[in-house]
Amino acid sequence: MNTPRLAIIIPCFNEELCIEATVNQLLIVYNHLIKLNKINKDSYIYLIDDGSKDRTWEIIENLHKNNSHIKGQKFITNFGNQKAILAGLEAVRRIGCDCVVSIDADLQQDEWAIEKFVDKYMQGYDIVSGIRNDRKTDSFLKKFTAIMFYKTMNILGAKIPVNHSDYRLVSRKALDIMELYEERYLFLRGFFNEIGLKTAYVNFDVKPRMAGQSKFNFMSLMTLALNGITSYSIVPLRFVTILGFLMALFGVLVGLETVFEKVFLNNSPNGWATLVILLCVFGGIQLFCLGIIGEYVGQIFREVKHRPRYIVECELK
Ligand code: UDP
Ligand code: MG
Repeated sequence: MNTPRLAIIIPCFNEELCIEATVNQLLIVYNHLIKLNKINKDSYIYLIDDGSKDRTWEIIENLHKNNSHIKGQKFITNFGNQKAILAGLEAVRRIGCDCVVSIDADLQQDEWAIEKFVDKYMQGYDIVSGIRNDRKTDSFLKKFTAIMFYKTMNILGAKIPVNHSDYRLVSRKALDIMELYEERYLFLRGFFNEIGLKTAYVNFDVKPRMAGQSKFNFMSLMTLALNGITSYSIVPLRFVTILGFLMALFGVLVGLETVFEKVFLNNSPNGWATLVILLCVFGGIQLFCLGIIGEYVGQIFREVKHRPRYIVECELK
């Protein structure tokens, strides 16, 4: 195999404090890999500004001016981290590359793992997923929600590697397959795992964020998780059906028992409290189930509108 042309994509949202240091650090890795002849000289870094309101784009433009191997594009507004990664993948496919690594702008992921990613690629793997060694740098809430998410996904039958957070290498072949998927809200962690290409895993250490704050809040994490679940599993819908069936069965049994008591024991149960409790419990379960169905209806609603996934304001090639 020839020395591959590697692209490194970085989604950035209000990262003025990190982005320059991150790019410089990645250039060290980049030069190291070129020296070892592991990647070729046309390799490049591609930054996607996800509608930042700070100086992020200005910094990217300056980086590009000084080094044509640093390219990028700017979204017209904030479309979210998944869309930014997706746009990066589509852009580098257009520009040309043999493989592409996505990494966060705060360099929390150990950038030296890229060398191992490329080694795996050279061994014939099309997808190399980075797996974090631990979650020491996460807050309690994030750790808890992340663990719950991966557990739920596993129970629901969607195969996503645990503790994988969009730090991965994918080959040109995987990018070509991605083009065939027209989903607006492609959940990348699920997608790359599902398409059945040869996959390797590389462990890496997580560092604290270089500067600034996490761009994810509780709501955006919930949205990501719900999208992951509703786009990769219909088990919750089955759960609703089974629950409905069990509740109906319970109702029939209670009904029969009541009739039995009235007819044979002449004992009509008086149960105002029971009635109120049952009403509330069943009412609650019904609304919860409607909510689950609503999530899927919402997913369909967003997809059928077929809106553009993102809108690019300008690009530096
Ligand atoms: N990010 C993005 N758009 C967003 C939110 C985040 O492009 O709406 C980028 C962000 O700039 C960073 C990456 O996604 O490069 C991961 O975000 P962050 O480090 O804030 O998340 P955390 O590490 O806390 O999960
Ligand atoms: Mg981070």
